[in-house]
Amino acid sequence: MESFGHVIGGEEVESRDGATFESVDPWERTGWATVALGSPADADRAVAAARAAFDNGPWPRLSLAERGRILHRLADLVEANAVELATADTTDMGKPIRETLGHDVPRAAQNLRFFADHSTVTAAESFPMATGHHAYTQYDPAGVVAAIVPWNFPLMMATWKVAPALAWGNTVVLKPAEQSPASATLLARLALAAGLPPGVLNVVHGYGPGSVGQALTESPQVDRITFTGETTTGRAISRAAAENLTPVSLELGGKGANIVFDDCDIDRAVHWSIRAIFSNSGQVCLAGSRLYVQRGVLDTFLRRFTEAAQRLVIGNPKERSTELGPLSSEEHFRKVAGYLDIAAADGARVHTGGVGDGWTIRPTIVVGAGQRARITQEEVFGPVVVVLPFDDEQEAVAAANDTPYGLNAMLFTRDLSRAHRVSRALRVGTVWTNCFFVRDLRAPFGGAKNSGVGREGGVFSRDFFTEPKAVVMEIADA
Ligand code: NDP
Repeated sequence: MESFGHVIGGEEVESRDGATFESVDPWERTGWATVALGSPADADRAVAAARAAFDNGPWPRLSLAERGRILHRLADLVEANAVELATADTTDMGKPIRETLGHDVPRAAQNLRFFADHSTVTAAESFPMATGHHAYTQYDPAGVVAAIVPWNFPLMMATWKVAPALAWGNTVVLKPAEQSPASATLLARLALAAGLPPGVLNVVHGYGPGSVGQALTESPQVDRITFTGETTTGRAISRAAAENLTPVSLELGGKGANIVFDDCDIDRAVHWSIRAIFSNSGQVCLAGSRLYVQRGVLDTFLRRFTEAAQRLVIGNPKERSTELGPLSSEEHFRKVAGYLDIAAADGARVHTGGVGDGWTIRPTIVVGAGQRARITQEEVFGPVVVVLPFDDEQEAVAAANDTPYGLNAMLFTRDLSRAHRVSRALRVGTVWTNCFFVRDLRAPFGGAKNSGVGREGGVFSRDFFTEPKAVVMEIADA
């Protein structure tokens, strides 16, 4: 068994009470690592270390360039240890190694490099005043950041929050999900090796409600809370943060609409629609889980889409050929499997797919569901897509907007005007046209409606992780 501790004040430590838990490999269905199980006392200890490092340590006082250099060193170490990091996430939560090694770890390094550089080239506003005074904006670090992340992109999501927080001079307490703790400790070990001062990046493991996660969100010593996870958890965190008026950034669930118009390039639409719902076994907030297909192309699209889904390779996530691994845990597998029964009870039909071996679900296409069915409205977070036909653009837009979520949407069309028109009409944080998952880290990322509060990325991350200060000076006459 491997072993992963908290990292607090520059040292890897056990919990105060010595408690541990086992992280379960969902493919083998056995424990593979012993992890420190934190309590609110450990969360407080981590916050105190981050507070001391912020109030008295060098990190917030270094120049942007000096901090950037250390973050680049950390990115170098992430790349040098890519196999170990990717294997940790794959073992913890079952995502195929081709995704963790091919996407998540490179993107983690990119997150670190992007924010290291972006902080050094971001302009601040300057306001020459009519009165002869001069005002400008100074972006001061906010203080101690609590970063709470889910299990579906463990390392990638951690760096998406930690990198901008650190680049702008904050100190951080990172709480990974208990299903995927290993890569957070590995990242903190590498951060120390890269020269991050003690207490600047702390990791504390444990559960969310009533435990470490909740303690972080209730702490008056925390200045910012950045969270990605379920919408219900986001509400609980918002309530806890309200007590101390702590600003929160919430990236929550989704029910992505994927609209395929008659005039699309079918090859492209099939390729990206497969990626959009079956990558990471659909355990992606951005998944294209509602597939609206215009009637003229419905038969052809469904046939090609079904053939492609049936060709996907399910198996041991550590093998390079595997495209779908198991779901992240037994509990999550049961939840997703339960949605197939819910769909059937609502009169829908599994066109292909269903429950597989162990904790796997085969790529599943559901047809015959209505717009109000639970399978159409609720986030399943598995490799399950519901296909719904439509006749015209207006109907497609109305249906796409008709869920409580508003994270993202995709559309496939060759009509440029329609692409712009539909993008404008969709109430979501991101629209992809004729592609999926392509990101520019300068662009805003976040959700509308129940999919989130606030945006991160580029200057949006800066605005959240800093305290913008107005500095006004008199320019005296000579
Ligand atoms: P959860 O909301 O259950 O958990 C996310 C994190 O929050 C975990 O670390 C969890 O701890 C912690 N947590 C849970 N309850 C509390 C609480 N009351 N106070 C503080 N922390 C708490 O999400 P999952 O891990 O199940 O992740 C899947 C969800 O995340 C999906 O709904 C998905 O849509 C969403 N998601 C959204 C993304 C986006 O960008 N919008 C991106 C990725 C996922 P623990 O689990 O250890 O108890």
